[in-house]
Amino acid sequence: MDLKLDTSVADGYHSGSQSARVLTENWVYNNMFCPRCGNARLEHFENNRPVADFYCSVCGNQFELKSKNGVIGKKVPDGAYDTMISRINSDSNPDFLFMGYSLSSMSVNNLIVVPKYFFHPDIIEKRPPLSDTARRAGWTGCNILLDKIPIQGRIRIISDGIISDKDEVVNKTVLSGNLEVKNIASRGWIFDILRCVNAISENVFTLEQMYAFEEALSRKYPDNHNIRPKIRQQLQVLRDRGLIEFVGNGTYRKVM
Ligand SMILES: [Zn+2]
Repeated sequence: MDLKLDTSVADGYHSGSQSARVLTENWVYNNMFCPRCGNARLEHFENNRPVADFYCSVCGNQFELKSKNGVIGKKVPDGAYDTMISRINSDSNPDFLFMGYSLSSMSVNNLIVVPKYFFHPDIIEKRPPLSDTARRAGWTGCNILLDKIPIQGRIRIISDGIISDKDEVVNKTVLSGNLEVKNIASRGWIFDILRCVNAISENVFTLEQMYAFEEALSRKYPDNHNIRPKIRQQLQVLRDRGLIEFVGNGTYRKVM
């Protein structure tokens, strides 16, 4: 993996956004392996497909690239809000690659992969509609809130110029598949409870520590009057999926 962007491919492009797109897509095409199966390369979709930019010819998985000059940040602007929500609800999202590059050093500094099953309406923020004077007046875009995705779903490929071991990336991506939930509503709960588990700094934790999140969860789910049983149920789901173990006596241990 060579972190440098090949500037020669952007010759002839005058628009900054177009040349950035060509530079970053060319980098992925020449450097990126498939984080799902470890295949050495990703293929580029020829035409400007609305859904995905890359695919793996071995496992068939698709990827969309979101790149940004500078750090990736906590939120990443994306396209139309309604389109994103319907893509999530119909489970037609690809995996996302989020890239932060530097135009001053012409290199890729950060890259993470978020598998598609981590997408949920909770992580999509509606932007204000464009004003009446805008060319696309009323158009409403969205932001992807990366910091709302559990850490297990943000798999680092490059961190501040340091390249992660490829096998480690593939292993983490495969393991994250334990968290795949087809039903979108159930997906919200499992990720909420996982975020609570992640917020506890100790590796071994108690049910009492989890109950400390009851109030915050009640605010998010005001119609649910059985938050504590829901917490216990979702901890069982996390146990069944191999993320935590039951130690006994209302004590749990993190595995992943
Ligand atoms: Zn693959």
